[in-house]
Amino acid sequence: MDTLSLDPGLYIVATPIGNLGDMTRRAIDVLGAVSVIACEDTRVTGKLMAHLGIRKPLRRYDDHADAAARDALIQLMREEAVALVSDAGTPLISDPGYRLVRAAQAEGIAVTSLPGPSALITALTLSGLPTDRFLFGGFLPGKDKARGDVLRELAAIPATLVFYDTGPRLAETLDAMAELLPRREIAVARELTKLFEECRRGSAAELAAHYHEHPPRGEIVVLAGPPSEAPAPDAAAVDAALREALARLPISQAAKDVARSTGLDRKVLYVRALALQSEAP
Ligand code: SAM
Repeated sequence: MDTLSLDPGLYIVATPIGNLGDMTRRAIDVLGAVSVIACEDTRVTGKLMAHLGIRKPLRRYDDHADAAARDALIQLMREEAVALVSDAGTPLISDPGYRLVRAAQAEGIAVTSLPGPSALITALTLSGLPTDRFLFGGFLPGKDKARGDVLRELAAIPATLVFYDTGPRLAETLDAMAELLPRREIAVARELTKLFEECRRGSAAELAAHYHEHPPRGEIVVLAGPPSEAPAPDAAAVDAALREALARLPISQAAKDVARSTGLDRKVLYVRALALQSEAP
């Protein structure tokens, strides 16, 4: 029996990211009171509903759904309360829902968001990195070039950066961070709220070495603290570091090595290394 009477509209409902005990009382009440639940995957949400003892029609929805499917949900919201959930966590956070919320608001439909679990906030609060300013970057691109472009774009931002990641990609992400975010402290938060929850903090190079050796399982958030205040090395020190690296490495590798240790741009260092090499007796 429904205990709550809801006005028509869209209800965004966060669900647990691993521990079913994290379902809020209000989320349970609202899911028990809506007419329809829009979800990413009816099997995943079906299991959660079975656990909660709630039987409601489930309708598959994601932001790639065609306009007709979205319109049908919008029509329903004019008369009925409709919930939106994702497989886990807060809808719209690297999950579907943005287009649906925009469309509902454009039609003057009431939208209510119920706060609840999200891996983003759980990881940030657990990481021990500064929380006063942060930037959520979603999933980094999988391809080296595109991932590098994003990290270069964000490298100077004075805030903690938060990314979602996957086990197979983590070590490569950390390699890229070691090269492009060398002055940031990194944290890896894994399997949050679950039995094997883990949070490790260190330099990107240290964590990359660890995860190359111990390929991680499960769900992962990678965080990079704000760039450290270390003063930029002076030109003479950079030249000395480049000369030392050129004595043992090919030029591009030397530039990469010094970029990693100084936080300076690899392409700029490459050009300087070429000049130093041509000056060499
Ligand atoms: N909307 C969700 C939220 O609010 O957290 C995120 C959905 S996104 C498709 C899934 C990603 O979130 C995973 O690949 C992982 O990066 C992160 N994630 C979800 N659950 C997690 C957990 N229990 N521990 C660590 N990361 C998690």
